[in-house]
Amino acid sequence: MRPDPDFSDIIVGYRRIALAIAIGVMGVVLVRFVVFFGFAGPEVVQALPAGSLLVGMVLLAILAFGHRWMSRRLTVLARVWSEARASANRDALTGVFTRAYFLEKLSADVFHNSERPVGYLQLDMDNLKQLNDSAGHAAGDAALVHLSRVIQSVIPGAVVGRLGGDEFGIMIPGHDNKPALRRLGEELLRQLEKPVPIGGRPVRVSASIGVALSPQDATDPADLISMADLALYKAKKGGRRAVVAFDPDMLGDERQRRFIERELRAALMMNELELHYQPIFAADMTIRSYEALVRWRHTVRGMISPAQFIPIAEESDLIEKLGDWVLRRVCADLPVLGMPVAVNVSPAQLRDAEFASRFEAVLAQTGTRPDLLIVEITETVPLDAGKIELATLAALRARGVRIAIDDFGAGHASLQYLRGFAFDIIKIDRSYVANLGANRIDAMIIAAICDIARSLPVDVVAEGVETEEQLRQLRLAGCTGFQGFLLGRPQPLQKHRAAAAA
Ligand code: C2E
Ligand code: MG
Ligand code: MG
Repeated sequence: MRPDPDFSDIIVGYRRIALAIAIGVMGVVLVRFVVFFGFAGPEVVQALPAGSLLVGMVLLAILAFGHRWMSRRLTVLARVWSEARASANRDALTGVFTRAYFLEKLSADVFHNSERPVGYLQLDMDNLKQLNDSAGHAAGDAALVHLSRVIQSVIPGAVVGRLGGDEFGIMIPGHDNKPALRRLGEELLRQLEKPVPIGGRPVRVSASIGVALSPQDATDPADLISMADLALYKAKKGGRRAVVAFDPDMLGDERQRRFIERELRAALMMNELELHYQPIFAADMTIRSYEALVRWRHTVRGMISPAQFIPIAEESDLIEKLGDWVLRRVCADLPVLGMPVAVNVSPAQLRDAEFASRFEAVLAQTGTRPDLLIVEITETVPLDAGKIELATLAALRARGVRIAIDDFGAGHASLQYLRGFAFDIIKIDRSYVANLGANRIDAMIIAAICDIARSLPVDVVAEGVETEEQLRQLRLAGCTGFQGFLLGRPQPLQKHRAAAAA
């Protein structure tokens, strides 16, 4: 690609031409001068009339003045031009460089065979969507402006570009120390965490950062961004609000991720997934419902656990397709099971404003009663943010679908959930159940959750019940439902059908 012509090139060109003319005229004047004083000179010069010496000198003077005049104007023009160019290359909201211009700058510093080190941070704001949803777009904009200012004040020498809505690239020419770069990122997060008044309330900007270095990690600008992006992905996956530096091992993980995404897409198309149903027992030890758990038996890799592929599906449209498949399968199996069935719905699905209406459409198409379905949501759904999520859950509940909070206690939002919205079932995370015998505090927490549940009132299901002793203690604490390998493992529909027939 040909680079844009630069005004400084024009000035350099002009200076060269002016210098060549000046040297030419000076040469002629000099030789004529020599001839004038009687020394021999080239024939051509000797043929010049004597007055040409004067003409030459006048020409030189005009040239000198002309050059001064031209130089000044060119310098002013160059400044105006470069200011205009810079403002065209600035993001209108934040004032940092636009994506295109930032990439141009990055390409100028990062290229093959360049020994010059460049530190690179890829920053992604974690809570822009929540802020937009809860406080309006003006608040989101103000947070982005604040974010850009903090970046520039913490790393004054950096070249900063806005790469997308809430994504920023930060290039630090000459930086070659990864641990120091990581610390710089951490300082940035610390500064961002300080609350700033936005839209009349204090807001903390949360961000995740991926770090990579050139030429150590990549010698190509696009690769450098990809490596930092991979590290950023790890930071987000590890719970956000973190700085992660690129490590070559991450490339293997990325290959695995791509493999799973590709194969899962194919498996969904070929209808190769299965559902297993795990019974949930009531206090009288009769089955009161089932939980549908997706299973994927890959032809080469064997069983792939949902813990492995659900997070990958959540990053693309695959989770929507998978969720749709699960719901349709459950609706088809419901008459055989003859009991309510719980389906797991990932937070990514709830963020879709169309989710509730699609869910209802499937129930209508399959003639399924809504009260036979329970939606299990994991407590990572950000409550304070999620106008859409809450509206989705409220719409489903209004139709008669029950809502269960899954893995209660495993995340950070549990208590907020209790006061945040209406639901029907709490499922206590199995980590509390596993520690029941050994940890008195866990037993107390379970008892306290049961107390709260009774007063709401909602059901409390204990997950991961593996021993008789756990079951005894859970009953004592006041749990109203029990699920675990002790009572019944997840099994395909045929097994349940056979058991019912026996
Ligand atoms: P979850 O919803 O909490 O499901 C319970 C998990 O605990 C299941 O793991 C189940 O097999 C396991 N489990 C049940 N009883 C016991 C026990 O006594 N001991 C132990 N150690 N484990 C027990 P699974 O099937 O591997 O699923 C893992 C997670 O994947 C689920 O956790 C759920 O969050 C997610 N998942 C599964 N199916 C789906 C699905 O269709 N859609 C979505 N979005 N997520 C799903
Ligand atoms: Mg579940
Ligand atoms: Mg669970």
